[in-house]
Amino acid sequence: MGLVTKVIRYLGLLLWWLLLPEAIASVESDNLEGIRSETVGGDIQPERPKSFQRVTRLDSSIRSDMRYASDQNFVGRPIAGYLAPVCYLANPAALALVEVHQELLAQGYGLIVFDCYRPERATNDFVQWALTREAAQKTHYFPRTDKSELFAKGYIARHSGHSRGATVDVGLYRLQFDPAAASGKASNGVCRRRFAEDRAAGLLDFGSDYDCFDRLSQTAHPDLSEVAKQNRQRLVNAMAAKGFVNYDQEWWHFTFQPEPYPTVYFDFPITED
Ligand SMILES: [Zn+2]
Repeated sequence: MGLVTKVIRYLGLLLWWLLLPEAIASVESDNLEGIRSETVGGDIQPERPKSFQRVTRLDSSIRSDMRYASDQNFVGRPIAGYLAPVCYLANPAALALVEVHQELLAQGYGLIVFDCYRPERATNDFVQWALTREAAQKTHYFPRTDKSELFAKGYIARHSGHSRGATVDVGLYRLQFDPAAASGKASNGVCRRRFAEDRAAGLLDFGSDYDCFDRLSQTAHPDLSEVAKQNRQRLVNAMAAKGFVNYDQEWWHFTFQPEPYPTVYFDFPITED
């Protein structure tokens, strides 16, 4: 092979490597265009499709603590697109979640939602944050993970299944609990900053805080208390019974199957109405 041919091949390979992320991004942004035309035909203020339900209106005993609408998250401030702390899901996922909750009520437990539909712009906000050095929340949310690894380890993605409207982050609360018995309980250690606060609110112990980007959050991690293992199993079983599949790296993250919008990424902001 002549030198010129080699150089041309090398340059071609380099160009392919440089353009690959763009090619992938453009495939996914096609989906984004699809959403915009589906919602309001390209208007810059997309509206929520009628097929999305406000979950706590379907059943007001489902608790919600929408962390991305507050400063209680790994970025440490409200995330773009979360204008209100409201859980929206596409209709079949919303109805199935209510069924999960009703089955759990009979066992003495209830669901608490931490995140539901997530606007595409919120994920963009995560991505922009991930590219900076800012890491004020590291101690609580990614104590053993370097910020530069959050993409590679799958904790932050350029596009989130949450934006498709059928993915939800959930925990469990106990219907009957004694706040006095829970008070004073403290636990030091990795991913335990909210331990006392969450127990006082009646939430079950899952062995790691919601959204702690750490191996302890792997659903089947062996280094957990028996109580935490049982609570994770209870949650996974209850969700699976109504069609929700767990993401094995995060005990709280579930996607309803079959997804109603498997290739669509929505981008309307979360508002009260
Ligand atoms: Zn999630």
